[in-house]
Amino acid sequence: MNLATPDLRAAPAWRSDGWVRALAGALPGLATVQAPQPLPAPHWVARNAALAAELGWSDWLDSDAALALLAGNRVLPEGPWATAYSGHQFGVWAGPLGDGRALLLGEAATPQGALEVQLKGAGPTPYSRRGDGRAVLRSSIREYLCSEAMHGLGIPTTRALALVGSPLPVRRETVETAAVVVRIAPSFLRFGHFEHFAHTAEDTEALRHLADATIARYFPAAGDSAQPYAALLQAVALRTAALMAQWQAAGFCHGVMNTDNMSVLGLTLDYGPFGFLDAFDPGHICNHTDQGGRYAWSRQPQVAFWNLHALARALLPLIGDGDAALAAIEPYKAAFADAMLAAWRAKLGLRELDGQHEADRALGDDLLRLMAQDRCDFTITFRRLAQFGTAPGAARDTVRDLFIDRGAFDAWAARYAARLALEPGTDAERAQRMNRVNPKLVLRNHLAEAAIRRAAAGDFGEIERLRRALSQPFDEDAGTAADAAFPPDWAQHLEVSCSS
Ligand code: AMP
Ligand code: MG
Repeated sequence: MNLATPDLRAAPAWRSDGWVRALAGALPGLATVQAPQPLPAPHWVARNAALAAELGWSDWLDSDAALALLAGNRVLPEGPWATAYSGHQFGVWAGPLGDGRALLLGEAATPQGALEVQLKGAGPTPYSRRGDGRAVLRSSIREYLCSEAMHGLGIPTTRALALVGSPLPVRRETVETAAVVVRIAPSFLRFGHFEHFAHTAEDTEALRHLADATIARYFPAAGDSAQPYAALLQAVALRTAALMAQWQAAGFCHGVMNTDNMSVLGLTLDYGPFGFLDAFDPGHICNHTDQGGRYAWSRQPQVAFWNLHALARALLPLIGDGDAALAAIEPYKAAFADAMLAAWRAKLGLRELDGQHEADRALGDDLLRLMAQDRCDFTITFRRLAQFGTAPGAARDTVRDLFIDRGAFDAWAARYAARLALEPGTDAERAQRMNRVNPKLVLRNHLAEAAIRRAAAGDFGEIERLRRALSQPFDEDAGTAADAAFPPDWAQHLEVSCSS
């Protein structure tokens, strides 16, 4: 299986001093070398030309060598590795969970620094439990498109370089076909990696080793602190707060915020039954399997804090003091509230003004309340708000038309106009600013579904077209009119579950 041909090594530049390899040596329980299961008759479903160009891999990604490597049909001289993590699922300790179907191919030196390359769906690992280690094409297309859509929105996320398909049948509710998603991130470290060592190791040495390596590599400032482990925890809490504010502001629902799906680096990680809000309902549950609504849109910020508690518990043996661990995650609350207010303000086109904090918060909350009452489309309402005119008698119908209770909207609009009068600049300047934060285009379920249906029929063109459109979601001419329109009626009946 080993094939150290020069073209494979030319680009990407695989680092032999990668940190997983170093960690695996020092921390035997973290990573196991695991050969991928060969994927029969692999073919490209999608290649992300934009990301390949950013990383300098365009030529390589055109090669047969790349297809063989990314299908899992060849390996590099070292690795790949499956890493061990555990976690809480739906609030309950679930023990070891992964990597059940992801293999870390290696770590490449890129213009963006060292990046890990992962194959998701490359076959079983020692952590697969009863799973087949595979991913189906349907969910792989969703992950590919959404990671790039999130990146286009400016939201921290793992990236997707390519999708490899195969006729290999995979059994889910029905028989589907297999695919491999090639994912990229500075690190795929999860809260669950720390929970794993806190629960399984006989002493704290393994946990300490993992924490020390994480600090040295990703959080060097925490290393300078007198309490490096508490500082690490706090840094993760602050990144998580920033991420949650961005999810909420984009109307993004992750769907499975288990602790094993939480990135230590504050990236959006593991795209399963995610969704973007259509008709606004704060209690929207995007995961058909989540009957209790634990991961509903409005609950995401609290769930993230709950997950930080789990991480704090895992790090407790290193921090040594429960109060210090709690104190380290406490800043999450203020950081989230500040970032959230800043995000709503930006979405309303308001700049920070002394003495307006409470009024701005109320203005944002009240708009959301009206939107919820009238089930206004989240993305379209905020996008149209840029066209709100402040001059007396100015046309406001484009946004007003979205509301059923026009009287309630007019009362809100009067407050909004009064607040906008305190802003410097013209309506046109504000509109421009707002259009840079309120996307015209998000990956609504029906858009992904259309790409999936066409792919099932052998036409992969829609995937690339959508990816390109979603990479510029703030552009007035991003995508087609239909991409940015209200979801069609059939979209209401789409159900997305954990099955992937
Ligand atoms: P999720 O909640 O979707 O992130 O899944 C939890 C864990 O289950 C993942 O981390 C995987 O390791 C594992 N898993 C999911 N699907 C499979 C599969 N088909 N085969 C093996 N492991 C899987
Ligand atoms: Mg997962």
